[in-house]
Amino acid sequence: MIPDRLKDEIAARLEFYRELGIEEFFIEPRPQVGLAELTAGEPPPALLPEALTQAISPLTAAEVPPQAALSMQRPPTAARSLNLFEAESPQSKERETLEDIQGDLGDCQRCKLAGGRKHIVFGQGNPHAELVFVGEGPGADEDEQGLPFVGRAGQLLNRMLQGVGIRREDVYICNVVKCRPPGNRTPERDEVEACSPFLFRQIEAIHPWLVCCLGAPAVKTVLGLKDGILKLRGRFYDFGGAKALATVHPAYVLRNPREEKILREDFAKIRDFLKAAATP
Ligand code: SF4
Repeated sequence: MIPDRLKDEIAARLEFYRELGIEEFFIEPRPQVGLAELTAGEPPPALLPEALTQAISPLTAAEVPPQAALSMQRPPTAARSLNLFEAESPQSKERETLEDIQGDLGDCQRCKLAGGRKHIVFGQGNPHAELVFVGEGPGADEDEQGLPFVGRAGQLLNRMLQGVGIRREDVYICNVVKCRPPGNRTPERDEVEACSPFLFRQIEAIHPWLVCCLGAPAVKTVLGLKDGILKLRGRFYDFGGAKALATVHPAYVLRNPREEKILREDFAKIRDFLKAAATP
């Protein structure tokens, strides 16, 4: 029987790791110790939190990837089937619109998240944005309003945008999945596979200069990269004919306020990138 307080600590620790992109744990087998072998006053074998700490210890020392990693091949994801950002051509002039895609999505029942949603959160913003943000999935506020990033994480996103002089209405914001996962859990593989083709179509329709992936699930879906977010963040990757930047999800910063500097740094990079891209 695990005490409630310990259960809460384990849940909080797992949530913290999830935000870092760590979703699998391997617990080192330990020799079984029978109760009879414990001497009086000897502590019992390690409980789960310590085992988890040991399991992720290599990541705490993670170094940034080598410079070569900045030039990535196209992601091995659903995006492979799309011609993202090919040079202007007669076909690209007929690129589908966000309205087309939303119409195609309809009252989507393509995955099990449909059953628990109040609203599909399709996306919001400038359909011709130079900058697209991709988060993980709608939370309770987003599900209620049918709009992305309107809760506390959205307020932090707004503040970060304001800090670098970018107006929210000038960007486009969407998520890997468009329906709220129960309890704000990470979207499961089948859900991502069902929903992400619509995300890639949206990005292709908008044709931005930069896609900013907020958090590990977005990085994994958009770029196909599975390393921890703290290893991947702050770097630009090739993404079709555009670039993608990985950074932490604002919800991570809400839980770890001292990490706000990460978002500030990465948003400054976004600002500098857009300025440079706009310079003839
Ligand atoms: S998450 Fe995406 S694929 Fe699943 S039901 Fe919602 S809109 Fe459809």
